[in-house]
Amino acid sequence: MAKSGLLDKYREAREEMVQLLLDRGISDERVLNAMAQVERHLFIPIPLRNHAYDDAALPIGEGQTISQPFTVAFMTESLHARELDKVLEIGTGSGYQTAVLAAMGIRVFTIERIPSLLDSARRVLDSMNVRYISKSSDGTIGWKEFAPFDGIVVTAGSPGIPKSLVEQLKVGGRLVVPVGTQDFQQMKIITKTGEGNNYSIEEKSDFKFVPLIGRDGWPERNG
Ligand code: SAH
Repeated sequence: MAKSGLLDKYREAREEMVQLLLDRGISDERVLNAMAQVERHLFIPIPLRNHAYDDAALPIGEGQTISQPFTVAFMTESLHARELDKVLEIGTGSGYQTAVLAAMGIRVFTIERIPSLLDSARRVLDSMNVRYISKSSDGTIGWKEFAPFDGIVVTAGSPGIPKSLVEQLKVGGRLVVPVGTQDFQQMKIITKTGEGNNYSIEEKSDFKFVPLIGRDGWPERNG
């Protein structure tokens, strides 16, 4: 049947994507399993679905993008999160990263600045029965009500390390955030080592994200 043919096509493409992630050095099986399960094509605008399993970022509207699979895998692996951990995601975008975290049994809290993007992400996530808690607001200030978190992942590029996010981590928890200019960022993997603002940092090679816009991010209109 045409439909199962199409499903098979996506499944094959997804298996190839996971193989590529392995080849690129992703080794956490929980991350690989989650990405083998989550149907990334459902988060992609229909005209671009043929590219859903390419290792590329793709436009999702409002000038934003769904991050490339390697980036999602790398950030998720860097969190070292375990089942039932509480993870805050800043930048829901398409909802794909949310679904990957939820597929690992993580309790996901996600914040998106642009209401229309959050609406579409919710539609897809709800149709897949994904469990998550979301709101539309400025994620650079975190989500105090649900803090502290075991992990926080920022999926947009920040000019610095958002202080409130470090504050809302548990001791031993990790914040993964791309920091740099609006063109290139280094991935900072921050482990909170004590109460307040004590942490250690690891840095990883170049990434390119859409800007994190908000109080502790870039101003709305950057000249
Ligand atoms: N995790 C997403 C990536 C989306 S791109 C995915 O898997 O598709 C980054 C998203 O961050 C964009 O949708 C952008 O609107 C959002 N964003 C930028 N600044 C933000 C802020 N301060 N708070 C919340 N979301 C923000």
